[in-house]
Formats: sequence, structure tokens, C-alpha cells
Amino acid sequence: MGIPKRMRAMVLVSPGAPLQAVELAVPAPGPAQVLIEIAACGVCRTDVHIADGELRRPKLPLVPGHEIVGTIVQSGNEVQGFSLGDRIGVPWLGFSDGTCAYCLQGRENLCDHPLFTGYDIDGGYAEYAVADHRYCYRLPDSYDDEAVAPLLCAGLVGYRSYRMAGTNARRLGFYGFGAAAHLLAQVAVHEGKEVYAFTRPGDIEAQNFARRLGAVWAGSSQELPPEKLDAAILFAPVGALVPAALRATAKGGTIVCGGIHMSVIPAFPYEILWEERAICSVANLTRRDGIEFFEIASRTRIQAETIVFPLEQANAALEGVRQGRLEGAAVLRIRS
Ligand SMILES: [Zn+2]
Ligand SMILES: [Zn+2]
Repeated sequence: MGIPKRMRAMVLVSPGAPLQAVELAVPAPGPAQVLIEIAACGVCRTDVHIADGELRRPKLPLVPGHEIVGTIVQSGNEVQGFSLGDRIGVPWLGFSDGTCAYCLQGRENLCDHPLFTGYDIDGGYAEYAVADHRYCYRLPDSYDDEAVAPLLCAGLVGYRSYRMAGTNARRLGFYGFGAAAHLLAQVAVHEGKEVYAFTRPGDIEAQNFARRLGAVWAGSSQELPPEKLDAAILFAPVGALVPAALRATAKGGTIVCGGIHMSVIPAFPYEILWEERAICSVANLTRRDGIEFFEIASRTRIQAETIVFPLEQANAALEGVRQGRLEGAAVLRIRS
């Protein structure tokens, strides 16, 4: 089948306003790019922050979406290692310069001149997208398109947060139990960790969801766990959770802020930080994180709970993520 000239897409024209359903020209791949016919694209909380204008410099108009799963239908002449028909995944990191001090230290997640998919580069809320092949992943065959899409960011950046929490951390708290936490809980349980899940007060459904995935304890973020945590990962973008997590954490523990945006962190007494507790954030991903994570994902069956929306309902998907009430990860089905 030939490649059409036009495609359906959901486009952000003005932050704060809903995405618009439009027709766009199918993009042509540059020398290092592949053209991908998209099967599915995950909806990440970062997309909500972009759509709401909390991340301030998106290209406009923008096709959001950085959890792209599809097949290669055309390649630029510098593309190596991929063939037409290959299924690939496109993550948030779409380009790094390879020359800045961070890239030279192997920290391309902090690159001074990065390009991000669905932010600087048009993403996956469309029937086709182009992507630099050097940042794309082969995906484990054992996952179908919709199940693997959330692994590309919720899973992958969640995995980076999980590693930053320290391999010695045995009792691990997850604040916010949605797309990322439900994937990482499975990895953590598989690696013998005790997962403590913290949800909004009264969100019994999310607490039961966490227990079904192996959490040893689930409760409200206002509660203290029965045992002090060795580390906590904050997936919910709520600054007030930082002091809450510090209070729940043992001496020497680490609090990892896993999101790209968070509401203001309230003042707190030094004594809850003292005793070598640390607070850190996670930014973006490196290609190496992805290779490691997909290796784990191909060995361990990570069951993604997905809530699937057709492309045209991208605004409803964003609203579901914005409300934080979805049990699992929102995914757009592009190819029916
Ligand atoms: Zn760089
Ligand atoms: Zn993301």
C-alpha cells in the first residue's frame, strides 16, 4: 500500500485550549529519519503539562505524543540497522547534540541542545510521524502495540526514577499510583522490593489496584506507612508530597521526584530532611536507560493496564490523565 499525502492528526494550536482535529501533510523523512505509520501512542502526564501551558516552549502548532509505536514505511539514506516493516518505538528524547559537556559524560538526558518528541518535534497523535532512527527502540515482540506504548515513557522514565532510588532500597514508596507507578511496581516486586503505594485520601480503588499488583501496603498519602521507607518516588505532580514523603522515609533515604513539573513544594522543618535524607529529580532519559529497560521488559512480563481512546478523543484522554483518576495508562489507538 502506498503512503498517502495527507493524514489525520490532533494538534495543539494554543496552550490552554483543546487539541484540534486537523488534516496535515504526511511528513517526509530527513536523511537520518524514518517515516513511521503509527499504530498506537501513549498519553503521558507531560502531554497534559504541555497542553495546559505549564511547559513553556513547545513548537506550535504541535502534534503531541512521545510514546509512539508503529512500523517503518520509509527511510532516509543514512538510516542503519532498521528495515522497512520493522516495528519501533519513539520516546521523549528525540535528539541530543552529542558534543556538550553532559553528552560527553554519558548524561545525554541533560543535553544542552536536546529535541524532545511531541514538544520540539511533532509526535504521535497522528497517523504518521518522522523520527531520528538513532533514538528509536526495537520493541519486545511479546507486547502488542497498545500494551508497549506506555513503556516508552511512563515505564522508561519511571525506571530511571526507580534506579535513582538506589538498588539497596528495599522498602519503596510510590506516591501517585497511575501510569508509571503501576508499571514500576511490577518491576520492583519482581526484584524483591516491598512496594508501599500512596494515593489520594479515600481513593480505595487505586489502593486496591496497587495491592492487586503486589503492593504490601496501600493507603492515603497523608498516612505514614507501617514501616519507614528506604526511598520514595513521587509520580504525582504535587509539591506537598515532598514533605509527606520525607516524614515517611528512614534515615539516609532518598525522595525521587519523577515528573517534569510539580506544584510548589511547601516549606518544611529541616529536621525531616536531616539524617542524610536526599531529595532529587529525574529529567528525561538516555538511550541506555531504554535499552536496559526493554531488556527487563522482555524478560519480565510487565502488564500494562491501558485505557484505549481513538485518536479523535485525545482531549478526553488528556482530561483523564489530568484528573489522575485512570487506573493505568491512557493510549490512543491510531490504526484500527
Ligand atoms: Zn548534549
Ligand atoms: Zn512522558
